[in-house]
Amino acid sequence: MHSSIADGLCERCVPSEPPELNRISVLGATGSIGTSCLDVIAAHGSRLQAVALTAHRNWEPLAQQCQRMKPRFAVLSDASMRQQIGGNAFPRETEVWFGAEGLERIARHPDVDTVVCGIVGAAGLRGAWAAIEAGKRVALANKETLVVAGPLVMQLAAKTGAVLLPVDSEHSAVFQALQSGRRRDLKRIVLTASGGPFRGWSRERLEREVTIERALAHPTWQMGPKITIDSATMMNKALEIIEARWLFDLDADQIAVVIHPQSIVHSFVEFLDGSVVAQLSPPDMKLPIQYALTYPERWAATSPTMDWTRSHQLDFFPPDDEAFPALKLGFEVARRGGTCGAVLNAAKEVAVQRFLEGNLKFVDIPRACGDILKEHNFDAQPTLTELLRLDDWARKEMQQWKSSQSI
Ligand code: NAD
Ligand code: MG
Repeated sequence: MHSSIADGLCERCVPSEPPELNRISVLGATGSIGTSCLDVIAAHGSRLQAVALTAHRNWEPLAQQCQRMKPRFAVLSDASMRQQIGGNAFPRETEVWFGAEGLERIARHPDVDTVVCGIVGAAGLRGAWAAIEAGKRVALANKETLVVAGPLVMQLAAKTGAVLLPVDSEHSAVFQALQSGRRRDLKRIVLTASGGPFRGWSRERLEREVTIERALAHPTWQMGPKITIDSATMMNKALEIIEARWLFDLDADQIAVVIHPQSIVHSFVEFLDGSVVAQLSPPDMKLPIQYALTYPERWAATSPTMDWTRSHQLDFFPPDDEAFPALKLGFEVARRGGTCGAVLNAAKEVAVQRFLEGNLKFVDIPRACGDILKEHNFDAQPTLTELLRLDDWARKEMQQWKSSQSI
């Protein structure tokens, strides 16, 4: 049995009080999550402190962030950046490290209380793993950590006592809603999805009319390019089904998805007596980021709040599984577990890259991922090494995937 955050919630509420001064490493500081996170830290400067910031290659925005936040450490995880950076770009008080080992060093650093995992893709696993191993409070935006290695990550957290706090808005909503009841009285959770820019489109229309520009224009959320494309295919929701499966220790059939175009209800939970508890707020990641940094406390908002003097309309529709087959893949992977998450995620990352380069059709993203999932050598209880090897294998398969391959 995996230790789940929801079980842990009741037992670990008191020990997981945030420290008086919460010293934070932000992995992926220059991204969409990272930037919002720095705004939250800056708004609560007397109780939150940025100790370390990281980026992969974009050193100029990282240097600007360091000028603003004056962290002790900065990491450029692409080691070749050592040759690129300008002389006085970083402030004197910031020590700059290069290479991916730097991520681990700042994730484990004794002067760090909380690690925000805001790196995109499977590349985020390394830093998240180090933080969990070191028993930190971990504010997890990087859903791929759980998609790729969910059972191993949850086992590790149970062993080290690391507190995993979800940042993904749906999982934060479930986490918040779960606090109104007992875990054992939970019937199921319902993840909301905006439906993305192609909500309501038929399969035929998706075949003909999708462009990269349209796929990158999300109607309600401002996010990095990969997750924005994942929202358009609904692959993001597939990953979130898998993330929820491990985080809350649920069976796949305890998870449902509903389309909610306004992105105000961020998800809900249903208890055995039929009572449904939801979390609502305008679509802004600063709220779930801040909650992960302050849990179990709640501090004044740094993002817009609901204006209940205005009229609001909240709509809910069932998803269209035929036009968006990614959802079925998500449920399949949540059901089978083992090596499936690592394979689906790696295949999907390369598929998105190929789509953005203009050499894979939008509708082929889930189709190709399904093919590669089917072909892979399934193992129900893989080690981390095996998962990383399969991640590599699935990337190569997807690079070579051609439409004729599909049946
Ligand atoms: P982004 O593309 O805006 O930023 C990614 C960050 O990761 C950047 O700082 C970049 O320098 C760094 N990075 C990229 N490749 C790296 C590598 N190989 N090694 C180390 N660092 C690397 O991404 P984002 O939209 O902020 O998303 C970050 C994570 O949060 C993703 O896992 C995403 O699914 C999740 N998430 C994002 C949102 C959102 O609103 N953006 C919402 C929910 C969950
Ligand atoms: Mg989400």
